[in-house]
Amino acid sequence: MKKVKNCSFCGCELDKNNKGIEGIDAIICHQCLDLYAEIIDLNETKYYDLEFVKNNLIKDVTPKLIFDELSKSVIGQIEAKRILSVALYRHYKRILDPKSDFEKSNILMIGPTGVGKTLLARTMADVLKLPIAICDATVYTQAGYVGEDVENILLKLLQNADFDLDVAQNGIVFLDEFDKLARKSENPSITRDVSGEGVQNALLKIIEGNVVNVPPQGGRKHPYQECIKFDTSNVLFICAGAFDGLKLDKKKSVGFNNLNQDSCYELTKALQNYGIIPEILGRLPVIARLSKLSINELESVLTVPKKALINQYINLFKSDEVALEFTPDAITEIATCAYNEGLGARALKKILEDMMLDYMFEVPSNKEVNHITIKKSDVLESVNKKKITSA
Ligand code: ADP
Repeated sequence: MKKVKNCSFCGCELDKNNKGIEGIDAIICHQCLDLYAEIIDLNETKYYDLEFVKNNLIKDVTPKLIFDELSKSVIGQIEAKRILSVALYRHYKRILDPKSDFEKSNILMIGPTGVGKTLLARTMADVLKLPIAICDATVYTQAGYVGEDVENILLKLLQNADFDLDVAQNGIVFLDEFDKLARKSENPSITRDVSGEGVQNALLKIIEGNVVNVPPQGGRKHPYQECIKFDTSNVLFICAGAFDGLKLDKKKSVGFNNLNQDSCYELTKALQNYGIIPEILGRLPVIARLSKLSINELESVLTVPKKALINQYINLFKSDEVALEFTPDAITEIATCAYNEGLGARALKKILEDMMLDYMFEVPSNKEVNHITIKKSDVLESVNKKKITSA
C-alpha cells in the first residue's frame, strides 16, 4: 500500500494535486509555502543591487512579460500598459548595456485621478526591482525661492536605493501633479513664474540627462557643502497629471477616451498650449493615456489584484477567526457608488472604510461573531448614512 505523506507544518495530507516539496526531514505543502512567501513579502526589506538586477532579474524579460506582471496589479489601462511595457523594456536594455543605442524613453502619463498612474509606476519599479522616488511636482520651486530644490528628487531616489549611487542612477522618478507646473501666462516673459515655468526649466536639467550636484543632507545647496555627483542619464522619469480641460483644438475640450483618435502631433501641441514648455515635451517621448475606470473595472479593482481591497479585509477578519464575505451585488454596488463619486478607485477605499469601521471596532471583542455577510443593502445604508452626516 502506498504510504500517505503529510505536510510537516500543517499536517495536511499530500496528494497528486498538492505534492509539496520534500526536504531531508520534512515536506512542505503548497499552502504553507504560499503562507511563507506572504510572510517573507511582508517582512521584506528592500535591498537593491545593480548586479542583482542585471543577473538575477526575471530571465528572458520581454515587453509581454512586463505587461503580464503589470496586469497582476493594474486593472484595465491596456493601451497604457502596452506603451509602458515597451518603455520599461528599453530601460532594462539600457541597464544591461548603458552604451546601447536606445534613447532614454521618459514618460508622460495623462489621466484623471485614481486610475492607476502611481500604481503603474510603482509596479514598473517592482517588476525590474528598481528603486523609485515618488514626488509631488508642486513642492518644488526654482532655485533661490522658498520651497524645495529639484535636486532633492534625486536625493530621495538615492535614499530609496539605500545610498547605492549606481543603483539610484538607474532608478525611476515619478513626478505627480506635473500638470500643475503649466505656465500660467501665454507669454513667458511677462511674469516670473517661479512655481511653474521656472520649475519646468529646473527639471529640464535633470530630466535631459546631466551630472547634477546633489546635497547629501537635502535642503538647499550651500557653497561649502560636499555634493554627490549624480548622473541622471539613465534615470527613467515618469511625469504624470490629469491635465484637466486639455484642449485638442480651439473649439472643443476633449475627454480622455476621445484622445485616442488624435495624432501625437496634435497632442504635443495641445500640451504646449496647456503650458508645458516644448523642451520638456521633447524629453518625454512616450505618452501614455489612462482612462476613467468603468464600473466593471472598479469591481475588478476590488477583487482581482494580488493585494485587492476586499481580500485585505477578508484576511484582516480571518486573523480574528471571522469569515467575511461580500455578495456579488454588494461588490457591484460599491463599484457603482465609487464610479458616481468620480475619484476613480480612490473612492472604493473610502466607501469600504466607512462601511467596515463599525465591524472593525466591534468584532474583535465579540467572540460570538464568526461570520459576516455584506449585502447590497448594507452598502446602500452606509453610503446614505454618510451622505446625511456630511450634508
Ligand atoms: P492616480 O492615477 O491618481 O495616481 P493611484 O495609482 O494612486 O491613482 O490609485 C489610487 C488607488 O486606487 C490605489 O490604491 C490603487 O491601488 C487603486 N487603483 C487605481 N487604479 C487602479 C487600477 N487600474 N487597477 C488596480 N488598482 C487601481
